[in-house]
Amino acid sequence: MQIDTPHRNTLLDSFGRQVNYIRLSITDRCDFRCQYCMSENMTFLPRDEVLSLEECARIVKIFVSMGVTKVRITGGEPLVRKNALWLFKEIGNLEGLNELVTTTNGSQLEHQAESLKAAGVKRINISLDSLNHERFKKITRVGDLNKVLRGITAAKAAGFKNIKINTVLMHGINEDETLDLLNFAISQNIDIAYIEEMPLGVVDHERQASYVSNVSTLNLIQKHYSLFQSTENSGGPAKYWRVSNTETKIGFISPHSHNFCESCNRIRISCKGELFLCLGQNDMVELMPLLRAYPRDDEPLIHAILESMKVKPKGHDFDLSRPSQSVVRFMSYTGG
Ligand code: SAM
Ligand code: SF4
Repeated sequence: MQIDTPHRNTLLDSFGRQVNYIRLSITDRCDFRCQYCMSENMTFLPRDEVLSLEECARIVKIFVSMGVTKVRITGGEPLVRKNALWLFKEIGNLEGLNELVTTTNGSQLEHQAESLKAAGVKRINISLDSLNHERFKKITRVGDLNKVLRGITAAKAAGFKNIKINTVLMHGINEDETLDLLNFAISQNIDIAYIEEMPLGVVDHERQASYVSNVSTLNLIQKHYSLFQSTENSGGPAKYWRVSNTETKIGFISPHSHNFCESCNRIRISCKGELFLCLGQNDMVELMPLLRAYPRDDEPLIHAILESMKVKPKGHDFDLSRPSQSVVRFMSYTGG
């Protein structure tokens, strides 16, 4: 079936923003249970409701043919998905794709970093919320800090550049490690991004009480370091600062204290094949029925993707004081 659709090589939404970046969650499962991301007792999707790796590869190929140049493989924990490496290899060298990147909790990197590099992964973000072993276990509920630290070492040894630590600071939990984590990043010659906690899914603590504003994080860091604002832009929502006389860049991802929606260039695909047009809104288009109904015809999918651009919202409206209006999806489901 050939549907007459103009501009099929460019994804433009109704606000004139070009979408060239997709984040694909390849599993909602994870070997950690981070307090801000999941509740202690999670129910995961049955396997047949999750995109197969072949379906993931097909989706990515279609998006790349429509002008997407950057793909982030995420989850859940992407590296716990069986045969995830097959997918990385399958899309690592796609013509037209400039950047294949991934976000991981680092628990599997010790053994997978080299293969990921060989598969064509350009950059890795690794979540790290504490350098204190006991506290790390408490935040992740099950994680082993040593494994993650060995994972960071392995990623560096494999030749990854611009490795970035992702840190979610929480008041009364790890806020006092703001500078320790930055010092660690500096000592490792890697970057760090502070992410404000977002009200995604219902967790076991009061998010308003744990919220730490990036404005206060920046103020604290500036008391101890000379920073200069960087014009660098990874195509993402982070605002970057460089730490003088170091290799380290600090990113601030501030959905509450700074709204970055006007330059949004991304969409997310959940592990169930739902195309979410905004992390903080519920607008979505289901791709799974089309994938399965038309296994050899991409046109219905292309048409649905083009149509989805009409409903990409202007922006999110995260508000921690309105828990009833939180997005009900966990970040692990939509893909962080
Ligand atoms: N498991 C991988 C990891 O932890 O890096 C990838 C998926 S995780 C959902 C991606 C990122 O989302 C992590 O850096 C995590 O810290 C962040 N994240 C998860 N839930 C969040 C929330 N409610 N608010 C802000 N960031 C969150
Ligand atoms: Fe797992 Fe990442 Fe969520 Fe932590 S943040 S529970 S590592 S998906």
